[in-house]
Amino acid sequence: MNVAVCVKQIPSAETPLAFDPTSKTLVRTGPLVLDESDSFSVEMALRLVEQSGGGDVTLISVVPDGETQGLRTALAMGAARAVLVSDPLLSGLDALGTAKVLAAMVRRLDADLVLAGTESSDGYTGTVPVQMAELLNYPAVSFVRHVEISGDHLVTERQTEEGFEEVTCPLPAVVSVTAGVVEVRYPSFKGIMAAKSKPVEVLTVADLGLEADSLGIAGARQEVIALEQAELRPSGEIITDSGDAFETIVERLVSWNIISEHQ
Ligand SMILES: Cc1cc2nc3c(=O)[nH]c(=O)nc-3n(C[C@H](O)[C@H](O)[C@H](O)COP(=O)(O)OP(=O)(O)OC[C@H]3O[C@@H](n4cnc5c(N)ncnc54)[C@H](O)[C@@H]3O)c2cc1C
Repeated sequence: MNVAVCVKQIPSAETPLAFDPTSKTLVRTGPLVLDESDSFSVEMALRLVEQSGGGDVTLISVVPDGETQGLRTALAMGAARAVLVSDPLLSGLDALGTAKVLAAMVRRLDADLVLAGTESSDGYTGTVPVQMAELLNYPAVSFVRHVEISGDHLVTERQTEEGFEEVTCPLPAVVSVTAGVVEVRYPSFKGIMAAKSKPVEVLTVADLGLEADSLGIAGARQEVIALEQAELRPSGEIITDSGDAFETIVERLVSWNIISEHQ
């Protein structure tokens, strides 16, 4: 089976965040890394392909400045190839614009299934996978923790607040994978070396036949109105135990209505 995985490349958590004062968006000019949220769907895709005994994993990514560092990490894990769209026309792209570009990329592929993360670690609107499914007219299953293929159908476990529900749907489909649901393999030395020569196709908006004015800043329907420092959380209270600390803790729990005085 052939699986396409949406892979977002984001600024490394070690890089201090910087914002453009005019567009109020994150500055993304430095090196970008594989979003950890997407490493789980890469792992899930590799396992599905291994179980099915054929096919491969194609990574798809939309990114400014042709950055490939994050893709190389996923290629080192075992993906066969990557397709990248990078085009100055995409500057200021919002989540719907990203979904349009990803959907156009999926249309060029022969993918039985499209996997994505539930939400990215930097933008985290959590809207891209479902928008992409709508544009492709594919079923969408969100918050998925387990996937199996049964003939031409997908059987998933979809996480809920109480536990999980089983959802089945026909293929092709778009599935967004919950972070942390599979143990992600470390790329081996052999995998890292092999990733250097795996194909990364770079496309433009024109290659996809998309209208430039429905994308980028011109087509964006999302606008960041204001940017403010989040309120700092006050530091916690340290209760030194001289044998009676439990009394203070019980008092606090009662005052917060977590326990009642009569318990
Ligand atoms: C070319 C380009 C330029 C941008 N420029 C800026 C900028 O200057 N400043 C700024 O702050 N933001 C910028 N963005 C980010 C953008 O506004 C949103 O963050 C992004 O479109 C997706 O929204 P999200 O992160 O909320 O996705 P979510 O819906 O939270 O993501 C869910 C999942 O969708 C998939 N996905 C999401 N985005 C991508 C992607 N780009 N490629 C592949 N898979 C993806 C991943 O699997 C991800 O886990 C840019 C994005 C692109 C693609």
